[in-house]
Amino acid sequence: MNDSIRRQKLFHRTVLVVDDEAVNRQMLGAILGTAYEVLYAANGREALEQVRIQKDLISLILLDLLMPEMDGYQVLEELRADPILRRIPVIVLTADRSAEVKSLQLGAADFLSKPYDMPEVIQARVRHSIELSEDTRIIQATENDSLTGLYTREFFFEYAHKFDRFHQEKAIDAIVLNFNRFHMVNELHGREFGDRVLCAIADGIRGILEETDGVACRYDADTFFIYVSHRSDYDHLINSVLRRLGEVMNTPEMRIRMGVYQDVYRAARLEERFDRALQACNSIRNQFGFSYAIYDMNMHEREVYSARLMEDFPTALETAQFQVRYQPKFNIRGETPRLCSAEALISWQHPEYGRVRPDAFIPLFEENGLIRRLDHFVWRETARQLGEWKKQYGAVIPVSVNVSRVDIYDPDIVSFLLSLVEENHIETEDLLLEITESAYTDNSRQIVQVVSQLRDKGFKVEMDDFGSGYSSLNMLTTLPIDALKLDMAFIRDIARDNKEMRMVELVLEIAAFLEVPVIAEGVETKEQYELLHQAGCDIIQGYYFSRPIDAEEYARFIMKEMALRTKEG
Ligand code: C2E
Ligand code: MG
Ligand code: MG
Repeated sequence: MNDSIRRQKLFHRTVLVVDDEAVNRQMLGAILGTAYEVLYAANGREALEQVRIQKDLISLILLDLLMPEMDGYQVLEELRADPILRRIPVIVLTADRSAEVKSLQLGAADFLSKPYDMPEVIQARVRHSIELSEDTRIIQATENDSLTGLYTREFFFEYAHKFDRFHQEKAIDAIVLNFNRFHMVNELHGREFGDRVLCAIADGIRGILEETDGVACRYDADTFFIYVSHRSDYDHLINSVLRRLGEVMNTPEMRIRMGVYQDVYRAARLEERFDRALQACNSIRNQFGFSYAIYDMNMHEREVYSARLMEDFPTALETAQFQVRYQPKFNIRGETPRLCSAEALISWQHPEYGRVRPDAFIPLFEENGLIRRLDHFVWRETARQLGEWKKQYGAVIPVSVNVSRVDIYDPDIVSFLLSLVEENHIETEDLLLEITESAYTDNSRQIVQVVSQLRDKGFKVEMDDFGSGYSSLNMLTTLPIDALKLDMAFIRDIARDNKEMRMVELVLEIAAFLEVPVIAEGVETKEQYELLHQAGCDIIQGYYFSRPIDAEEYARFIMKEMALRTKEG
């Protein structure tokens, strides 16, 4: 089959017209040609040949009954005998009304009588037959996940509901099972091996379902949902999965984590029960080795708290509960540390909860997209403030804002940032952008594209939390960045632990190779400061110099720096 037909299939379905009379073929071709890709055959034998080669492509056959070499009845019989070909709907073309019954018995979907007069009727019947057959196929295809044979998620929820109806009194668990960093398996060993791994997990789950009442599905790529009668120990389920997994790979216990919503509260919707199991599962995302977690009161309180924060967000934004604070960054390359920029950090003064830490709401807002509105607020406020300082002090000391991974998918991000710069009469290099390392590893192509556009416009980009993600050296050399911000975790122990200090030195070497400065954040003590100074770190941010402070207080740092600059001339 040639590629042009394949490509057009995206837009046009393909219809095969089988008729021994050229004039009929032309006429049908003219009627259907605008809406479909039309293929032709002049007799039954040719038709079958075409169908066998292009069975994935042909959506419908228009079949004349009376033809030389092989007639339409024979074609119908052959098609019917083939489990795959019999799915293609056939409309029979005939002038003989008595032939209709026989052809319907042979599996024809519909018929058109000759001579063809009404093009609209033909078009409508063709369309109808195709739609009907595609609908049935979808229904048949989606009950079971084609890879593992477990239910697909739609059917899973349906059967789980049924399960609930039949087992009202029974204690039951909602369980989510996930394979850690599954994409790495695909990347390292190929998709085929990845598929085997997933099938092994499914087999392990099926083993349990054979002993206990329940249903299971593959929810998405590497996540499985299991709804089974409650048992007090989960090792049983785990071992069943690990045993199968152990047949295809090493250290299976390193790969699986599981969250359980135990003896579920049935007033909650089924989806909510699995949300809770998923929360439990995600609460151990960063642990090594095998583990499982059970949804508990703590998690429940956190869930309620999170729900409140989400609910309160719009009001908080309208009533100025959010404030942008600034934490100075100092260049420490010279004799004395000098203010070189600041990081804008959000702060939420909640009327009931008091000050809410960003760690409590940023990840939450990243999940549901609210982060975009919050970030826009911070960027707008920061740009406005920079404009004001510029007017006041005649020059700008740049400020960095955090750019969440969600923002990267915003098609207007570049124009929005540019408009802020223009409106406030500042320069693109005054508004630095911090993007967390893990955003790069999640979707490097998209991010490289967006970051390149931003840098083309003059924005400078700092890679935040460097060392917490999994960038490879190879990746780093191709990434467009202007600075590395070392993850705080490295700094914490440098004064105590020589190994940590070695890591910092290593990052400094990488940065030197990339020819970008290193910013160390979370520097709290003099000791840490001195170690970093000696090692050649360029810029420092942390409580050692200052906590994040409000604009007014930060302005004092600016004034001091401006005074030094004037003195130096
Ligand atoms: P980050 O971007 O890595 O910001 C640095 C965090 O470290 C800030 O926490 C800052 O207050 C804290 N920090 C600074 N110096 C020290 C120190 O010496 N010791 C210790 N222990 N901590 C220090 P904060 O303000 O709680 O923010 C936490 C995270 O929330 C930020 O990490 C950032 O990822 C995110 N975030 C904050 N504001 C925004 C925002 O406006 N938009 C987005 N998307 N994320 C934000
Ligand atoms: Mg940051
Ligand atoms: Mg950071």
